[in-house]
Amino acid sequence: MTSPFEYAPAPESRAVVDIKPSYGLFINGEFVDGSGTSFKTVNPATEEVLAEVAEASDSDVDEAVKAARRAYTRVWSRMSGAERAKYLYRIARIIQERGRELAVLESIDNGKPIKESRDVDVPIVAAHFFYYAGWADKLKYAGYGDTPLGVAGQVIPWNFPLLMLAWKIAPALACGNTVVLKPAETTPLTALLFAEICQQADLPPGVVNIVTGAGDTGRAIVSHPDVDKVAFTGSTEVGKAIARAVAGTDKKVTLELGGKAANIVFDDAPLDQAVEGIVNGIFFNQGHVCCAGSRLLVQESVADEVMSRLKRRMATLRVGDPLDKNTDVGAINSAEQLAKIRELSEIGEAEGAERWSAPCELPSNGYWFAPTVFTGVSQAHRIAREEIFGPVLSVLTFRTPSEAVEKANNTPFGLSAGVWTDKGSRILSMANRLRAGVVWANTFNKFDPTSPFGGYKESGYGREGGRHGLEAYLKGADD
Ligand code: NDP
Repeated sequence: MTSPFEYAPAPESRAVVDIKPSYGLFINGEFVDGSGTSFKTVNPATEEVLAEVAEASDSDVDEAVKAARRAYTRVWSRMSGAERAKYLYRIARIIQERGRELAVLESIDNGKPIKESRDVDVPIVAAHFFYYAGWADKLKYAGYGDTPLGVAGQVIPWNFPLLMLAWKIAPALACGNTVVLKPAETTPLTALLFAEICQQADLPPGVVNIVTGAGDTGRAIVSHPDVDKVAFTGSTEVGKAIARAVAGTDKKVTLELGGKAANIVFDDAPLDQAVEGIVNGIFFNQGHVCCAGSRLLVQESVADEVMSRLKRRMATLRVGDPLDKNTDVGAINSAEQLAKIRELSEIGEAEGAERWSAPCELPSNGYWFAPTVFTGVSQAHRIAREEIFGPVLSVLTFRTPSEAVEKANNTPFGLSAGVWTDKGSRILSMANRLRAGVVWANTFNKFDPTSPFGGYKESGYGREGGRHGLEAYLKGADD
């Protein structure tokens, strides 16, 4: 079917990025060869191999932790907050200057549409560094003391590679800690470009160390005895393993894990805006979003109307080349993730839910999944309970606000939720009753460095962002 929304191709040039054939580890301010093996990172939209990347061994991680410890004791923890802020401001400005390069590289390595990496990820990354630079000389007014913890070991996922790096590194450095960070195996390239930015900003060697690798490298960081603080974003399963690994040690831990957010639409909601919010909630970043609005709870009286408007809108989503400026939905990040999305979707059908996908032509190479919606979903269905982490929406209905709250909270997770209604009082009453760290009202997936983010229950603990985000990186008055 030819869509009335057929646009001429508008590809962003990739000439702005210089991808090297191979990358080492960034330890003590320099790129060094790892002592272990290496792995390939691919472009998920084409399956083209982009580069060979070093896989950090236990001894490499040890070197990185030693470099971070030296930098902490000799330089970074002794520097005044105002001096540290200068480095953070410098990093923020370089991120802005090199924003296009970072956005193109992120889209190539991750598969996300360029309009998102360019207009969402990279600007928020810069904003995060600006924001925490502002705190560096004001820590004593934040209420958590002004004593840093030491060396932070940070492990991040592949869905927002550079943004998760910023969420981890900016507050850690502002508070006077040094870091060893591992990007995800499938998306190491922007973290390695960030390492170059640290060099360009003349950041003292060892303050930031980037070690690439897979789960074993992450495990080595988390269990290293000289790491004082562990910060992790990723799956609940690995989060639980990390909680077990650090139990009984003095390490301070923050975990930002999975979600299964309810996006709740009442019958008095502005329906066109709500449909945009539903689309943004689940199809933004291919649904690879821990706080995605993956469960739509729609009031029964408007369910048919919302579904027909939603399907009409989904048919206009442009799926394809992440570097095309008109693309709305890019590539699935990896073959493994695609297999998981397919498997859970097949289970949804087998359990009796009704599946509908927007008609669209998917490229023949790469990893793709058409935006999909399931109706007739019950709370017992696996697609209503498990994180699919893809462009798949499960739709349930409700009659009363209490039923909506009950269904929304009927999950082991508690990261985020959305409420769509014309009534301010209803927004406040729902926000009070929803067990979710973030509740968006008449919007969804809005991120701001000044706003704390984090979960309840199996979505993890600790907050990132805002003043609250400082607590995770300071000793605090009672520690
Ligand atoms: P993981 O939780 O496995 O990965 C997150 C990070 O942890 C990666 O850097 C990973 O390395 C690393 N890691 C893996 N095992 C360990 C370990 N034992 N100790 C320390 N670090 C470790 O997520 P996946 O990428 O495997 O995705 C699996 C599922 O998790 C997804 O399908 C999705 O449902 C969910 N997920 C949720 C996210 C969220 O933000 N809530 C983010 C990402 C995934 P490596 O890259 O090599 O695996």
